[in-house]
Amino acid sequence: MKEALLYERLDSALRCTLCERRCIIGEGKRGFCGMRINQEGRLYTASYASISAVEPRPIEIKPFYHFYPASEAITFSTWGCNLACRWCQNWHLSQRRGEGRRITPAEMLQLALEARVQGTCASFNEPTLLFEYCLELFPLARERGLYNTFVSNGYMSEAALRRLADAGLDAINIDMKGSDKVYRRYCSGARAMVVWRNISLARKLGMHVEVVNLLVTGVNDSEEDVRYVVENHLRYAGEDVPLHFTRYHPAYRFSAPPTPVERLEAACEFAKREGVLYPYLGNVPGHRYENTYCHACGKLLIRRHSYRVLDYKLSRDKRCLHCGAEIPLVGEYCG
Ligand code: SF4
Repeated sequence: MKEALLYERLDSALRCTLCERRCIIGEGKRGFCGMRINQEGRLYTASYASISAVEPRPIEIKPFYHFYPASEAITFSTWGCNLACRWCQNWHLSQRRGEGRRITPAEMLQLALEARVQGTCASFNEPTLLFEYCLELFPLARERGLYNTFVSNGYMSEAALRRLADAGLDAINIDMKGSDKVYRRYCSGARAMVVWRNISLARKLGMHVEVVNLLVTGVNDSEEDVRYVVENHLRYAGEDVPLHFTRYHPAYRFSAPPTPVERLEAACEFAKREGVLYPYLGNVPGHRYENTYCHACGKLLIRRHSYRVLDYKLSRDKRCLHCGAEIPLVGEYCG
């Protein structure tokens, strides 16, 4: 185990400051995520280089739709999570503590180079739990011309996000669950405003940001819930940040039926009317809202199917080929 970087000593315990749960952890105990342990007055991470899954995956599957289109990233995870959402699609990794395969940051970079991918991506479970690992991997990857990305619930502390940015985190996809009511009831008492703060901070730190809102049937798919997300997206992320409404399917401890597609379509259309330039619909393969349409003239620019790019019609300087509008998109097309 490796000593954790972000914690404070209290009188008879330690306070972990990696995420906004700020767990107070007594001797021999673990924090909420199960992966930070107090041993003899020092905090250790049990996730460092303990890799539960690793494989190259398309960047669109994260989803990132405005970042190095059609590229691939070596995608890896560990175990545990600082939230415990009852519909978690990756609960077999996020809600367990397993023995991962030992892969050092240098070995991960080697896997990426051998797979000839364009970047790295910490994903599947909450990547903040690989904080110390990513602080070592990201500069190595950047030196070799690779980008670095996170698919996160956005619940890390401000200090953690700043350190990740300094280490070379280029892009972050943040899953916004909804209002405080949703977080309190279904995500073990977390706070929505922390996530909005980090979305805003990530932008200020110069990262590329995309936001996902998984619409869960009967939980956060009402008009009021969608209005909350859209209004705050415009306030904290900005109109040019892509907003993905994704379809829920029953998983883990949740058995409500999948989100009706009409509700996802209504969410996308509402977001567009309110001023979000790039709302998308996810987990519905072949849907027209998987595509990118120019915000100025409405022409089809990027056609996708099941997170694969089929057609790409932008100029080299990322302008619409029809009207010349500048499209907010980072990195070159890799298809
Ligand atoms: S990472 Fe978050 S959940 Fe885990 S011990 Fe630290 S404060 Fe608690």
